Amino acid sequence: MRRKIVAGNWKLNTTLQEGIKLASSVNDLVAKGLPENVDVIVAPPFTHLAGIKKVLTEKIGLAAQNCAAEPSGALTGEVSASMIRSAGAEYVIIGHSERRIYFNESDLEVAGKVKLALENDLKPIFCCGEKLHEREKLIYTEVIKKQLEYGLFDLDEEKLKNVIIAYEPVWAIGTGKNATSEQAQEMHQYIRHLVEEKYSTRTAEEQVILYGGSCKPSNAPELFANKDVDGGLIGGASLSAKDFYGIINSF
Ligand code: PEP
Repeated sequence: MRRKIVAGNWKLNTTLQEGIKLASSVNDLVAKGLPENVDVIVAPPFTHLAGIKKVLTEKIGLAAQNCAAEPSGALTGEVSASMIRSAGAEYVIIGHSERRIYFNESDLEVAGKVKLALENDLKPIFCCGEKLHEREKLIYTEVIKKQLEYGLFDLDEEKLKNVIIAYEPVWAIGTGKNATSEQAQEMHQYIRHLVEEKYSTRTAEEQVILYGGSCKPSNAPELFANKDVDGGLIGGASLSAKDFYGIINSF
């Protein structure tokens, strides 16, 4: 049985003190209990990683929101995969649409970051998703196929086992307009089918695929009830410990 995951992406929010407070509140709620087979991850800003690691119990995983495309060197302001690992994180979000759109990250760059993450013992949370005009033009499956083929599928099967895929339609991120349960299931099933085609039925069955895009306590139960939706990558709602815990308990 695949594990379920709920991961909170805090983006460019919270000071260190606010972040520690939020992580402590998530800790307290998670300590009350978790649904069976569910893992929880939080992804605060880089500056918070080491401090929040000290606060979290072993029940909550820690992720960075990005990593540099190079292992080290003269790249002022960048944060490498090895630095992230040394701060105590176990996961890193890679290829989030905000990075692809606002920082021009290409599929090739994303693929390089995935490899660097894995080399440094970090599990990538690989994001893919189509824009609104791509959905309206009915080319969304092609868009996702390309992002997976160029960004992820040159990994060998063993390495892919350490990757979590997040399907995040860009038109649903931060807009309050989530994908319907049917739209999410269709795309998750399609992504699983692509994994099967490229690798094997077994790997496809084991692949964790999260949904992201305006997920909240009110819509999570319906989204998570789909057989190919293994949890969520949560933006806005993860900034409230209560809402985040509500989503976790939607399973
Ligand atoms: C995200 O940015 O990964 C995300 C899913 O954001 P939101 O939940 O705010 O739509």
